[in-house]
Amino acid sequence: MTPAQRLNRISEEGLCIGCGLCEAIAGKDAIQIARTPEGALRPIPQAGLDHAAVDQIYLTCPGTRMEGLPDRLLDTETKTDLVWGPIHRIAVGHASEEKVRFQGATGGVLSALALYLLQEKQVDFILHARASEKHPSFGEATISRTRADVMAAAGSRYGPTATLIGLEEALQTGERFAVIGTPCDITGLRNAATLDPRIDAQVPYMLAMVCGGFMETPAFEKRLVANGADPTQLKSVRYRGYGCPGPTRVEHTDGSVVEFTYLDMWGEDDSAWSLPFRCKICPDGIGEACDVAASDIWPGGAPTDEEATNHSHDPGDNALLMRSDAGRTLVEGAARTGYLTLTEDVGPRQMDDFQPHQVKKKHAAWSRHMGILAAGGMAPTTARLRLPELAAARGPADIKAQASGTRNRVLAGKSRETTPREG
Ligand SMILES: Cc1cc2nc3c(=O)[nH]c(=O)nc-3n(C[C@H](O)[C@H](O)[C@H](O)COP(=O)(O)OP(=O)(O)OC[C@H]3O[C@@H](n4cnc5c(N)ncnc54)[C@H](O)[C@@H]3O)c2cc1C
Ligand code: SF4
Ligand code: SF4
Repeated sequence: MTPAQRLNRISEEGLCIGCGLCEAIAGKDAIQIARTPEGALRPIPQAGLDHAAVDQIYLTCPGTRMEGLPDRLLDTETKTDLVWGPIHRIAVGHASEEKVRFQGATGGVLSALALYLLQEKQVDFILHARASEKHPSFGEATISRTRADVMAAAGSRYGPTATLIGLEEALQTGERFAVIGTPCDITGLRNAATLDPRIDAQVPYMLAMVCGGFMETPAFEKRLVANGADPTQLKSVRYRGYGCPGPTRVEHTDGSVVEFTYLDMWGEDDSAWSLPFRCKICPDGIGEACDVAASDIWPGGAPTDEEATNHSHDPGDNALLMRSDAGRTLVEGAARTGYLTLTEDVGPRQMDDFQPHQVKKKHAAWSRHMGILAAGGMAPTTARLRLPELAAARGPADIKAQASGTRNRVLAGKSRETTPREG
């Protein structure tokens, strides 16, 4: 196999999430992340790609390797829950400042933590994501050094987003920075830290949102049409925020605006979600490798009709999962200095109630990976995520059903993607 064929295999087997790390590691002469005709972000091999670079990518790509919190970050205060992983403390809270809470996707805690880190000079900048200018439904990597930058990036981007494409540029500054991303972004960063000592030296905080997966472009465009928006005339897309969850707001190039609710967007029972294959088999949507993970806290996993429709009904609260000592110190420091308001502590079983889809996926991941391997496909290698124990807790009948369902889907070609090309 050529280096290009080896790289393409990650995408063809349905494991690439378009995080951008491989371009950051190999350089633009070897790999360029581009939008494909199907509306995904994928790495396109360039003339400078060699086997040594592809070896590095297989060691670091979060599509192919997903691991939990490094052992060195576990300590005597860490309690490891079978489902929720390593935890120092879980608290419910929100950004203390009303504007940050309002504009944030949920209660604005990730933006409040970013503001605390910048304004208290604990880091020089934040590497995270904001709305893409080129493709309005996508996210794009951004570096925030000011309050205005952080506020411009508040809110969730549910479209393709290559946050780690900016990693090398960020490291080359020699400055200290925090990273906010999806759980797979943070895993990619931890993987890369095993090869590049600059990452642990320069990145003292790694933060993530709990993530159920993003929506593929064709499915998103169908939802736009169903809700009266025109996907061919997009100027900007705000998925949520400005309330919790707030409206999905689409602005067209002629200035007209269409707004609809979170439930109109995703369906009452997530029935409108169309997840990429990689997200369906994700072994860690709960941010096990990060210092702090932030989630929604709707009982049953979705807002009520009233919460989704009346945008001033719920000002927004997050659960904050503090996984490491650094994460706990960060959250408690932000609370002490007035950036965050913490209202109560909760336990892992309350998290089960807030995130039933995450519990289900966590128990199913190992069996689904076995199903991929049984079909001759490529599954991510995993460690420190308790996946065999999680599968065993559901019993042999569930393991068999999950594994054979995934095997059949892979054999039917449902995990396959065409060789990535720009378009
Ligand atoms: C794809 C996706 C799936 C999600 N699934 C779930 C779920 O299953 N359960 C759940 O509880 N919550 C889920 N969320 C998280 C939820 O929407 C909120 O992001 C989370 O509660 C944090 O809220 P906040 O108010 O603190 O965020 P904010 O204060 O609005 O801050 C959000 C931060 O995240 C960064 N960001 C936003 N989108 C992306 C992205 N795509 N990639 C990298 N960085 C990004 C922004 O730059 C910003 O710094 C998901 C979010 C995304 C993007
Ligand atoms: S998941 Fe990220 S690192 Fe892996 S191939 Fe895709 S873009 Fe590259
Ligand atoms: S579900 Fe998993 S693979 Fe998909 S975007 Fe979220 S963390 Fe990444």
